[in-house]
Amino acid sequence: MKLVLLGPPGAGKGTHAKKLGGAYGLRHLATGDILRQEIRGGTELGGRAKGVIEKGGLVSDDLINEMMAKQIESGGADKGFLLDGYPRTINQAEALDVFLKHHGIKIDAVINFVTSEQVVIDRLSGRRVCAKCGGNFHVHNIPPKKEGICDFCGDALVQRKDDKPETVRHRLETYRKETSPLIEYYRQQGLLHDFPADQGVEPLQVELRKFFEKAGLVQ
Ligand code: AMP
Repeated sequence: MKLVLLGPPGAGKGTHAKKLGGAYGLRHLATGDILRQEIRGGTELGGRAKGVIEKGGLVSDDLINEMMAKQIESGGADKGFLLDGYPRTINQAEALDVFLKHHGIKIDAVINFVTSEQVVIDRLSGRRVCAKCGGNFHVHNIPPKKEGICDFCGDALVQRKDDKPETVRHRLETYRKETSPLIEYYRQQGLLHDFPADQGVEPLQVELRKFFEKAGLVQ
């Protein structure tokens, strides 16, 4: 099963992708995670992306397209993949279409996480992440067992710099301008499926899994 997850920052794409990836053996390709890894590794790409990410803008289409083509080509996705945070512009979506066609790959569905702005702002301002293993928590909605400590690896949880209120506003504006046109783009291709994403994680997981079964995408 090959999916694109679409929605504003804070919609829950990463949280659901991790669960679905685990349940169905899908490779989770999250552009934000990959870029943060590049920054930690001190690579050239990381160096170019750092300032843009911290300001809440978008890294250039060419860099992202090249990075994601390499990721998809590197394999490890026999059972399929989840694209989380890619594409994020019409240019990226068009480049992805060309790339997939060239490789004879078809996207099965685009999952659109439909959220209200206030829910997204609450989720982002309360989000805490583990810089070491990528664990994702929320001070109220998904609290760690021990405050400030990652359940998975025991490292300290931190707030992402781009989850600070000023940057969140800019990221949402960027989403509205650059990414939301993709909703229509994929609707026209007959791939778009809307899911109400203001609800809690578990009920939405149930809805998603029912949809995959009904659509014959999983057994
Ligand atoms: P995320 O973790 O998905 O919220 O991504 C964090 C940041 O990485 C974004 O705010 C962008 O600066 C950058 N980024 C992630 N995905 C993309 C993309 N597809 N195109 C451009 N920039 C991206």
